Parts: sequence; structure tokens; C-alpha cells
Amino acid sequence: MYTTSPPRAWAEIDLQAIRHNLGIIKKASPTCAIMPVVKASAYGHGLEAVARTLDSEGITYFGVANVGEARRLKLSGCRTKPYILGATFPEEREELVENDWCSFVSTIEDAQHFQALAAQYGKKLKMHISIDVGMGRGGFLPNQLHELIDHLPKLPNLIFEGIGAHLPAADEDHEATLEQIRLFEESVATLRQSIDIKWIHIANSAASLAYQIPSANLARPGLALYGISPIESQWNDQLKPALSLHARLTVVRTLPENHTISYGSTFRTSHASKIATVGIGYADGYFRSLANKNARVIVHGISCPVLGRVTMDQIIIDVSEVPNVYPGDIAEILGLNVPVTELAEKAGTIPWEIFTSIGARIPRIYQS
Ligand SMILES: *Cc1c(COP(=O)(O)O)cnc(C)c1O
Repeated sequence: MYTTSPPRAWAEIDLQAIRHNLGIIKKASPTCAIMPVVKASAYGHGLEAVARTLDSEGITYFGVANVGEARRLKLSGCRTKPYILGATFPEEREELVENDWCSFVSTIEDAQHFQALAAQYGKKLKMHISIDVGMGRGGFLPNQLHELIDHLPKLPNLIFEGIGAHLPAADEDHEATLEQIRLFEESVATLRQSIDIKWIHIANSAASLAYQIPSANLARPGLALYGISPIESQWNDQLKPALSLHARLTVVRTLPENHTISYGSTFRTSHASKIATVGIGYADGYFRSLANKNARVIVHGISCPVLGRVTMDQIIIDVSEVPNVYPGDIAEILGLNVPVTELAEKAGTIPWEIFTSIGARIPRIYQS
């Protein structure tokens, strides 16, 4: 007989916190409707659970990365339509038209192809126009917009209901961001001379929290929704991190002075120490680059240093300061006491990558 093992590591996700964060973003951008960005499995928080939580919160679209995520959203039973934030391959577009999913055009050729598909299905297809104000990932350059405008009479089945752009440095470069917003506003004004546009969107989390963009009426927040401000020292007191990561100790024992720890023997005990092994590793998203960077986990409220290299499934920590510690006890890996920003900085990356790296074998446990 086999028994089910308790998980070695798991993520707890507070769905109420995500609802709360949506409220904070609405307060920061009071003139904007919201397209919550739930791409990459809602930044590792779980696409379906997060989408179901926000579906009835008066939102406009769900921002997803691709058609596969749009499909998952449809199967989740949510009523809010997906908006596909990434470029679509021609062979993916029929499914998009069939389902009335929304996306954007970046070239005249895109527009012509969507026009042909919409005509074939006898539909008026809602589409957005993507403008490249400096991100360089796609979209019409502002001075190419007139080509699309000239082409509009040949696109009778497309309803251009939105115009969008993406800011590359809203959390890093204020001057450049203001200039990109100015370029965007010009494109919006140009387009408005020819057609009515319902949705105007350029703000990610950083811009939603820190910029007032005159014409924008739709925001696309991702990270802030999950409770992390991309702008250091601002808003973190109001946003609530929704995710915490936990793992159990698998081994606890005392090792003598001068004992080496983990691959490469990059750490050596300087005195006899109580050492524990924890059931999480780089395959779960605990970055290997955290080795020897003063990374820490919390056991019974006490900070415990991570020793030596991170292995695929396990890390090794010093629990000498923790009284009464046993195998099976729980370590907080990431959460209120080990902020994702701290972990990201030590790992040499960003909170977005920490969240989206949390592995598939980590069960997500939801509190609503
Ligand atoms: C991912 C993404 C966002 C969300 O960005 P955050 O910085 O997480 O708020 C918004 N817009 C586009 C186009 C994106 O790709």
C-alpha cells in the first residue's frame, strides 16, 4: 500500500489579497478601467483561481500572453474575455475570431488577415492598434499610423475599439517615460481624427501607480495585482503580497566543525552547527544563484541562513539558533518575512521572474 506523502513544499495564495490589490490600483488610477494581467499562470499564482476571483470585480479584459492561455481562461468558465498581449501567428487567428477574443494589430498585413477572417465568419471583430513608443517588441511606429488610417476603408469588418502601447521603463526612467507618454498621446490624437476609440491603454503596474496619463482609460496591471510594487518604497505599505512559499525540513542534525556543505563544498562549518535540509530546490524555483548570497529562510520565526549551493530539490540551512526544531517543521521560503523583492535582489533577478519560476510541482493552496 502506498500512502500520499504530505507536500515537501507548497505555495499559499490569498485570493482576498488580490481583490484588495485591485482596489488599491483602482484608487491610484481612478479614471481607468482595469485589464488584470493574468499571463504566465497569473504570475505563478494560478490562472484559473485568480481569474475566477476577479471575473465579477467589474473588469474589462483579462490580459493573457497567448492563445493557449485564452483557451484556459475560456475553460475556466470566466465571462470576462481574454485580451491577447502577445503577437499571434496567422494560424492561431481563426480560433481568436471564432471565440471573439481580443488582440491587436501591429502591421497592415495583420489587419488584412484579421479582416479576411472576420469577413469569412461574417463578424465585426473588435481589435486594438498597437503603437511602439520605445519597447521595440512590435506595433506601429507613431509615424506609420497614417498608413493604417489610410487603409481603414478596406477593413470594414474590423472595429478598432482600442489603442495601446507598452512602457519599457516606467519604473526606471521618468524622463524617457514622460516622452513615451507624449508620443502615445500624439498617436491617440491622430487616430481620433479618423475614428472613435473606446479603450486607450499604456500603463503597466508602475505607470498605474505613479503616472497620471491624460487620455488613458484602461490600465494593465500585473505585478501590483499580486501585491508587489515595482516602484521601490512606494505603495508597498498598501498592497498585500498574495503569495507565500513554504517547505518542510527533511533532516535535522548537528554537524561538526569544518564539515563541508553541498555541491562544490563552497561552505564549511566554522564550528559545530545544527544543520537542516529543506525540501525545496532550484527545480521548484528557488534560484541556484541564491547560493552564498546571505539568503535566508524563516523557521519558527527565526532567520536561518542558506548554506552552500542550492541543489535541484533541497537546500541546506543553519538552524543553530532555533530551539526545538525537528524534521517536518515548516520553513517560510518567501512571504511576509522574506519579501520577494529581497529574494529577487539576492538572486540577481526581478520579482516577476521569481514568481513565474515557481515550479509546476509546487501545489498552490488557496485561501479565499
Ligand atoms: C506583462 C505586461 C503587463 C503587466 O506588467 P506589470 O509590470 O507586471 O504590471 C502590461 N502590459 C503588457 C503589454 C505586458 O506584457
